[in-house]
Amino acid sequence: MSTTDSTFTPALVVIDMQYDFVYGSLAVPGGSTIIDTINSLLKCPFAIKLASKDFHPADHISFAKTHDKPVLSKIIIYPPGKPLNNRPLEQVLWPVHCVANTPGFEFVEGLDREALDYTVHKGTDPGIETYSAFRDPWHLANTSLHGILESHGVTDVFVVGVAGDFCVKWTALDAVNLGYKTWVVRDAVKSVSDAGTEWEEMKNKGVRITNSDEVKKLVTG
Ligand SMILES: [Zn+2]
Repeated sequence: MSTTDSTFTPALVVIDMQYDFVYGSLAVPGGSTIIDTINSLLKCPFAIKLASKDFHPADHISFAKTHDKPVLSKIIIYPPGKPLNNRPLEQVLWPVHCVANTPGFEFVEGLDREALDYTVHKGTDPGIETYSAFRDPWHLANTSLHGILESHGVTDVFVVGVAGDFCVKWTALDAVNLGYKTWVVRDAVKSVSDAGTEWEEMKNKGVRITNSDEVKKLVTG
């Protein structure tokens, strides 16, 4: 496979490399150690390079503070405006993080943001949690990601960033469901938990697990 193969149009999708997820209120262990690897991938000739950002209002449904409950406790959430028996989901309650236009929301220092063609915001609706950079689990709040990828004829989506067991995983699974050949770059991802079960889960659902050296060979042909 190479860039001369017309069926290969790769996109790099950098998930949530924001201050709060690397050093701030919801820091993912080792998050800062993947910045250089992500920057080295951002130098490669992907057809397009995008980043997602968690973009929350101050009273977002995923914040423990919003519900006056302990961090990491769980609640059941429902699609806003729908009957209460309509697809309930368990929601982990997080510390306040990535509130739009606060320092914690900014890209982490050192990330080569100049290399990015697009930034996609998610989690903007106060009542809807959105781990995937494509859409929420109820498909009520689509982001612009799928449309951008389609408009560039992207065939292959390469996912990096944080957190491997939440937003990276759900983005990769959505990419598979939307018909993209989907790759997660293992040495450019860090997870909240060190259990590692997300890798098997993604593989079982059609995600290809790769590493940055392999990706560089694939993309540069
Ligand atoms: Zn969030």
